[in-house]
Amino acid sequence: MSRPTIDHRGPEFQAMAHRLLEEMKLVFRTEHPVLIYPSSATGAWEAAITNLLSPGDGVLVFNQGFFSERWAEVAERFGLQVQLKPWDSRRGLTADAVMEALHSDQGHNVKAVLVVHNETSTGVTSDIAAIGDALRASKNSALLMVDAVSSLGATDFRHDEWGVNVTVTGSQKGLMLPPGLSFVALSPKALTASESAELPNSYWRWQDHLEFNEKGFFPYTPATNLFFGLDEALSMLREEGFPEVLERHARLAGAARAAVSAWGLESYPLDPAESSDALTTVMMPDGVDADEVRRIVLERFDMSLGTGLGMLKGRIFRIGHLGDFNTLSLMGTLAGVEMGLVSAGVPVNTEGVSAAMAFLLSENKVDELES
Ligand SMILES: *Cc1c(COP(=O)(O)O)cnc(C)c1O
Repeated sequence: MSRPTIDHRGPEFQAMAHRLLEEMKLVFRTEHPVLIYPSSATGAWEAAITNLLSPGDGVLVFNQGFFSERWAEVAERFGLQVQLKPWDSRRGLTADAVMEALHSDQGHNVKAVLVVHNETSTGVTSDIAAIGDALRASKNSALLMVDAVSSLGATDFRHDEWGVNVTVTGSQKGLMLPPGLSFVALSPKALTASESAELPNSYWRWQDHLEFNEKGFFPYTPATNLFFGLDEALSMLREEGFPEVLERHARLAGAARAAVSAWGLESYPLDPAESSDALTTVMMPDGVDADEVRRIVLERFDMSLGTGLGMLKGRIFRIGHLGDFNTLSLMGTLAGVEMGLVSAGVPVNTEGVSAAMAFLLSENKVDELES
């Protein structure tokens, strides 16, 4: 990425852009266009909303946690009629809940359902396949928009097969890059809807991107050097093999959960089957400030744990294990957490690290070839 920037209207860039736009389709598991913006993922949220909806349209969102609330807020700021439904954020969103809310929408005002695949603030993953199937079976015309910011590249995700109309992600999570790029995967239904949507937009306009992308270019200066990084990130995913990448995330997440229960602590998701492969959320016993534990771990071991966001501030900390991460990076991380918990005086059994190790050694879970 520190190579000199090349001409983004020249042939070298053009060849790279064609390649990256094609390869991103494989990551999203789609045959339809993927767009790349020079923005954080929040920009891609706005792109999805402004390209597909019109003033007064209804939007259905469940309060899965901090990120679903933020996305709902973006929709609200554009004057849409947002129904933000309460939800038990310790559980994955269900297709039944979505369909029930749509059935009670008598005027058929809901034009889009916004769902976060992996809610990074809670560590809970929702079953997008089930929600997509239910929506298609019901013949309800609402568009399914999915935030896969912290799941793409860490958890199985299938844009076409699951019937998703728009999927958004960012560069700095499973794609292993610095922040600065966002991505939007479209479906044919989304492309059609974008032709009649009436919310104003300019920078985010899909039509401009599609026209330029077809020729290997962008409507304005792209983040060229992040593209160099994306090229390498995609090579890394290809070299390891996409199924192997997902399997690695699942294995490391299993080991992290084994550590949490051996410490005698609770993870925020109630059902381990819905617990994220990208991160593990650890609840603190009453009276313990999770941010104080984080402060101690940062000060003593120079390791940053994720803070509790929104209503979970101070109650949980988050252990990230996604992207360019392997068995030893996880074991180092867990050792830092265990020492930090002890240093902070949190009552725990000091058996988390060994439980994670036992988990990884069982059933040959440590891949001999892991590099
Ligand atoms: C990180 C994250 C975002 C926000 O991404 P930004 O790049 O900070 O705009 C949105 N949704 C989820 C689920 C995330 O994890």
